[in-house]
Amino acid sequence: MLDLSTLHSVVEQSYREFGQAPGGANADYIPFLANIPSDLSALAVVTANGDVISAGDIHYRFAIESISKVCTLALALEDWGAQTVQQKIGADATGMPFNSVMALELHGGKPLSPLVNAGAIASASLIKAENTEDRWNRILGMQRKLGSPQIKLSSPLNESEQSTNFHNRAIAWLLYSSGYLYCDPMEACDVYTRQCSTLLTTVELATMGATLATGGINPLSKERVLSPDNTPRILADMTMEGLYDTSGDWAYTVGLPGKSGVGGGILAVVPGVMGIAAFSPPLDDIGNSVRGQKMVASVANTLGYNLYKS
Ligand code: GLN
Repeated sequence: MLDLSTLHSVVEQSYREFGQAPGGANADYIPFLANIPSDLSALAVVTANGDVISAGDIHYRFAIESISKVCTLALALEDWGAQTVQQKIGADATGMPFNSVMALELHGGKPLSPLVNAGAIASASLIKAENTEDRWNRILGMQRKLGSPQIKLSSPLNESEQSTNFHNRAIAWLLYSSGYLYCDPMEACDVYTRQCSTLLTTVELATMGATLATGGINPLSKERVLSPDNTPRILADMTMEGLYDTSGDWAYTVGLPGKSGVGGGILAVVPGVMGIAAFSPPLDDIGNSVRGQKMVASVANTLGYNLYKS
């Protein structure tokens, strides 16, 4: 059984030890992210029972970025089922940077993973929708159900991304040319860019993890958000590609499904038990939060949570 006072002290201790760890730099290819104060830092756990434990800048709302890929994947699975998503997008590691065009070229244009840009743009295009606004509202709705109704689009962040996302537009056209895109390419890229441009707190991110940990019931709202058959698929994808080309290192050192974003957020899921989330803007060369990885790893290691442990 989880003892809440132990959990409080582990979160406090991990935040104190690693919340200002040195190294890394803010993402600067999205102008909005370059200007976020680098010393912001937070850590949160939400348990499958709905207990919330947090430390640091817990009210700060940061950019979800790539972590949004998990929510859109969840919706694509709900819309189409696991087999179709595997066939149309894939469930493997690319072994390459998150926005790699090379990874596409090497695999006949198939994105391989819903958790890299190509696969996430393909996931956005798969969502059943009448039009662009319907597609966007369904994706935002899933972020809110998994995390919190407070999750909203940031217009300045979205404008910053939409005016600099040339590489992602190229990826959308490549997907279209190889038959792996399922709506208008610029609509898919627009909606994908919006889904990256929402803001959330570290507790809201940990709530998303807790919803995945319970097999799809949000422990705070008590709503069933996902079918229990779909959450193992999402966690498998997070294991394979959640931290991009260092997903293997993360599995080796932490042993939990994880997902990071260039906004500085990172999430890990302990199935059946909790979501662990952290935020701090400085990133390593791969695009993962330096302090976030350390804080989440510290909580998981101290509590002894590792899926590969007997
Ligand atoms: N919006 C960012 C992009 O598409 C998200 C990338 C990320 O967080 N790794 O480049």
